[in-house]
Amino acid sequence: MKRGIVLKDDWPGYSLDLFTYPEHYHEDIESVYIPHGVIMNRVERLAHYIMDDFGEHNNIMVLCVLKGGYKFCADLVEFIEVLGRNSNKYLETRVEFIRLKSYLNDQSTEELHIIGSGDLSFLRGKSVLIVEAIVDTGKTMKALLKHVETFEPKMVKVAGLLVKRVPNMTESLTDYVGFEIPNHFVVGYALDYNEYFRDLNHICVITQELGR
Ligand code: 5GP
Repeated sequence: MKRGIVLKDDWPGYSLDLFTYPEHYHEDIESVYIPHGVIMNRVERLAHYIMDDFGEHNNIMVLCVLKGGYKFCADLVEFIEVLGRNSNKYLETRVEFIRLKSYLNDQSTEELHIIGSGDLSFLRGKSVLIVEAIVDTGKTMKALLKHVETFEPKMVKVAGLLVKRVPNMTESLTDYVGFEIPNHFVVGYALDYNEYFRDLNHICVITQELGR
């Protein structure tokens, strides 16, 4: 379960004409890599796992990593709330936002800037769920975990919708993985390429020309 749904290296995605998407992106995307409906069902499944693990804690501090994580976080929290309303295990959620930057175009850079976090001392003694859309080299998550740990939370778990299969993949930092994907640059479902494609609801691979 820790690897999530594994998309093989030779997975070509679905042909664009099988789905709907904003027409102006036609030239820029190669294929529908993960359709929106599949994403949603997987997110619902992750909500179940989280409820099972956090259920006894009554409340949970959700730390949403912006901007890419906003759709995943909104949908995940919604599923957690629905599950809570339909059972006797209601998990109170408080969502806070954090903004990090380590990417320029489609290249990972060395530096990590935490640009949108105020004082995180409210995390002390709390059960924390970090929600991130994609974990690539893991540098960002490692740095963020280190930062969060300084506030001495009771426990910290990480939900990552996508985890890339990269060379020298070290230990898994992600407790709840939606999909393990090959090392391609992906966009959509709030993931961008220079601020474009956040409004695409599927996860797609951009054309090679654009990625160059
Ligand atoms: P890492 O530090 O794990 O190498 O990079 C994580 C961050 O890089 C993510 O938070 C995300 O902002 C960005 N990132 C990594 N891979 C991709 C990708 O395929 N598409 C997009 N849009 N962003 C990515």
